[in-house]
Amino acid sequence: MLFDFNIYQGGDGTRSYLGQGGDVVMKLFSTLAKNSNYKIYADNSFTSVPLLEKLLRWELQYTGTVRQNWLLNCNIKGEKELKKEGRGSFDFRVEDTHNILAVRWFDNRAVTLLFAHTCVEPLRMAGRWDKKAKKRIDVSMPAIVADYNNHMGGIDILDSFLAKYRFRIRSRRWYIYLFCHFLSVALVNSWLMYKRECRLLQLPDKKMLLQRKFQAIVAECLVSVDSDKKRGRRTSSNPLITKQKVVNILCADVRKDQVAHWPAKSETRGRCKLCETNNTNTMCSKCGVRLCFVDGRNCSVDFHA
Ligand SMILES: [Zn+2]
Ligand SMILES: [Zn+2]
Repeated sequence: MLFDFNIYQGGDGTRSYLGQGGDVVMKLFSTLAKNSNYKIYADNSFTSVPLLEKLLRWELQYTGTVRQNWLLNCNIKGEKELKKEGRGSFDFRVEDTHNILAVRWFDNRAVTLLFAHTCVEPLRMAGRWDKKAKKRIDVSMPAIVADYNNHMGGIDILDSFLAKYRFRIRSRRWYIYLFCHFLSVALVNSWLMYKRECRLLQLPDKKMLLQRKFQAIVAECLVSVDSDKKRGRRTSSNPLITKQKVVNILCADVRKDQVAHWPAKSETRGRCKLCETNNTNTMCSKCGVRLCFVDGRNCSVDFHA
């Protein structure tokens, strides 16, 4: 879930000793609650030893890949040496004032990670495809590399959710694209929160709304609230959702907006949506559900109150 962001606008000339990447981490970190045991994962645009030292003062855990030339005075084995030793080989060095650990691990190419608070071991086995032998082989991997891969994946997942149902708006005004992007981000974030709630309520996965349906319902509710248009016309021209399915999950904002909920006759009789006992052919023209009113009970009023 995206919590905060910083739009890259090029260098503005004010750069601290942490470098541009390190400054970004500090800026984003400043909006998080302090002393909450966060773990930070970042790629090699951001990682440096001074940044780790600074974060350690807040007792934060940080894991990140680092560029080779950012490790000054560190005689860790180079890519060529590790390549000779084969896939899964690694080397590490510990910086002795803050116990910052640098690990270089070789798979198809070398990756170098910097972190504190953890150690290289245990080693894990990772399945890889061997081109020469044409079969799957097990390559040993420090657990911290697996941990890093696991958490960095989150950003790719968010990107793939965003790419799924993009707004296809073309504009010459650049800020329109920012608006659309953050609207998408807000939708994906809210869908992820919705799923979190569903899991807390122990709802089976099958009953959770898919991203597309969730997005369609939000759109439907946003155009219906405070509007006096009938639902039927718009939904029938919208191939995304059938009328019946939307009706069942109509949001409270639309149901209680007090605008144009006129009674209408339906062709067939059926159960009242609210009391679920009376049969009626009176329905709300906006909500599209049957609602009864009899002596001593007015479901139509209660439903919209
Ligand atoms: Zn009723
Ligand atoms: Zn209604």
